[in-house]
Amino acid sequence: MSKIPPFDLSEQYKVIGDEINTAVLAVLASGRYIGGASVEGFEQQFAAYIGTLECVACNSGTDALYLALRALNIKPGDEVITTPFTFIATAEVISAVGAMPVFVDIEAGTFNLDLGQVEAAITERTRVILPVHLFGQPVDMTRLMAIAQSHSLTVVEDCAQAVGAEWAEQKVGSIGHIGCFSFYPTKNLGACGDGGAVTTHDPTIAATIRLLRDHGRRAGGYYHEAIGVNSRLDAIQAAILQIKLRYLDTWNQQRRAVADRYRHLLQHIPGIVLPQEPAGGKGVWNQYTLRILGAASHSLEPTESRRDQVRQQLQAEGVSSMIYYPLPLHQQPIYAVPDQHPGQLPIAEQAATEVLSLPMFPELAPDEQERVAYSLKDCLA
Ligand SMILES: *Cc1c(COP(=O)(O)O)cnc(C)c1O
Repeated sequence: MSKIPPFDLSEQYKVIGDEINTAVLAVLASGRYIGGASVEGFEQQFAAYIGTLECVACNSGTDALYLALRALNIKPGDEVITTPFTFIATAEVISAVGAMPVFVDIEAGTFNLDLGQVEAAITERTRVILPVHLFGQPVDMTRLMAIAQSHSLTVVEDCAQAVGAEWAEQKVGSIGHIGCFSFYPTKNLGACGDGGAVTTHDPTIAATIRLLRDHGRRAGGYYHEAIGVNSRLDAIQAAILQIKLRYLDTWNQQRRAVADRYRHLLQHIPGIVLPQEPAGGKGVWNQYTLRILGAASHSLEPTESRRDQVRQQLQAEGVSSMIYYPLPLHQQPIYAVPDQHPGQLPIAEQAATEVLSLPMFPELAPDEQERVAYSLKDCLA
């Protein structure tokens, strides 16, 4: 029997390959490979899609976050409140500008920042709250913005996994002061290489980010007003992203259908907790991440959880699954303080031992999902 991968980008290329090839060849023939019409066109279309005045494209989601913090002048001595249950880039950029990430525990249900614990983490050094719309499920932005406003804090949304997701009928990336997106190939809107973008309603922030992404200069000259970086988006990637943006809503709709089918197939299996879309929001299912309940098993390695056993058994049956994320950021060697005890951020720590992400991509077929469900039932029996 054929293997079921965690994601499959070749299926998408089969459908839009001709369009992509034509667009890429046109860029090659144009002789304009950095910036130019395809980058500007994409920036305008993406701003319109998200619902912001401005979009500045850059080289990755990590750079989008970094440029956002630089534009806000976040510096040593500042604190940024964020989640420990995310990809390293979210916290890495806080460290990269010399500020301190302050990790607040997550909610068990959504894996997103627990907004009930944010206020207690605010100090006189706090400048920014940096929520992550993890796995494509939106954070309650109404509540988060109210907290931020009452403490005069800026909100930078990490939308890397959530392009097209909505809270209260507004797209994430248009609700906070700045939205940061990644076009890494496995994100819902993926380039054929690296790419990223910053969205904002604030023209001053957008102008600063434009400056910083190109060596601190205006419009390609040799006068430098700030210490910047090289984080430009390639014209080829912008041309590809323009095409893919037209399909994004359809693909997100297909992901929602895949999630519905999983819920239908898996809802009566004991010992697992299925992911849910938060009430008031619309998720875009970058991942379908469930929990396999059960602490570390006593039968095998002491550190091996029931989840790890299930994952191995699934693999043996030809079903690939992923673990996002096996170690919360506050426990990573770079962030753990000496003699740190387990249980500091207990919900995130437990999630790290229980989460399992099933195959999820728009083209995943119903019969493949049935096989995933059948194998999972088998492993849990
Ligand atoms: C992918 C991702 C990033 C980084 O994006 P890159 O384009 O890979 O640099 C940041 N935050 C989260 C939550 C992500 O999933």
